[in-house]
Amino acid sequence: MKHLDPRAPLVLDTRELGRRPGSQRQVSRSVPAPADLGIEVLSVPEGAPVELDLRLEAVMEGVLVTGSAKAGLEGECVRCLEPIRDEIAVTFQELFVYDDIRDAEGAEEDDEVSMLQDDLLDLETVLRDAVVLALPFQPLCQDDCPGLCPECGARLADEPDHTHEAAIDPRWAELTKLEQDPTD
Ligand SMILES: [Zn+2]
Ligand SMILES: [Zn+2]
Repeated sequence: MKHLDPRAPLVLDTRELGRRPGSQRQVSRSVPAPADLGIEVLSVPEGAPVELDLRLEAVMEGVLVTGSAKAGLEGECVRCLEPIRDEIAVTFQELFVYDDIRDAEGAEEDDEVSMLQDDLLDLETVLRDAVVLALPFQPLCQDDCPGLCPECGARLADEPDHTHEAAIDPRWAELTKLEQDPTD
């Protein structure tokens, strides 16, 4: 496990709760988005503000974090590549278990369990999972985006009447040329 930096924006200090079950703390802060907060085609740009509203509550085995996050999204339509700007609001809840309690129980390392480290917790994974889950797999600029013209790449939403002349069969094209040739 990497060592947590108490000054990192998404690391929260729970010492104030004194490990007394029932003690609570509200935290509201704006943090810069970590890298890769989202999916390839739609994400919160790195460094953009993420508004967090959190409740930290000490329970017997650790600290329960209940919260919400809001942020702006940037990406592109998977059909027509038009830039998309949107907003996302997610909620999450996660129990972070005291690391020394788990050690005392001789529990095996379990990646599924979020752990406190010296009473610090790192919200980054929880936040990322919540954001990724809330995103559409195939972001679109509009629900019925018609995409791009397969022949010339024009964005069809901008040109509803966009068409091409039906392609002429090359054999007929040859005939047309002969007919128009005055020396024949
Ligand atoms: Zn589109
Ligand atoms: Zn076209």
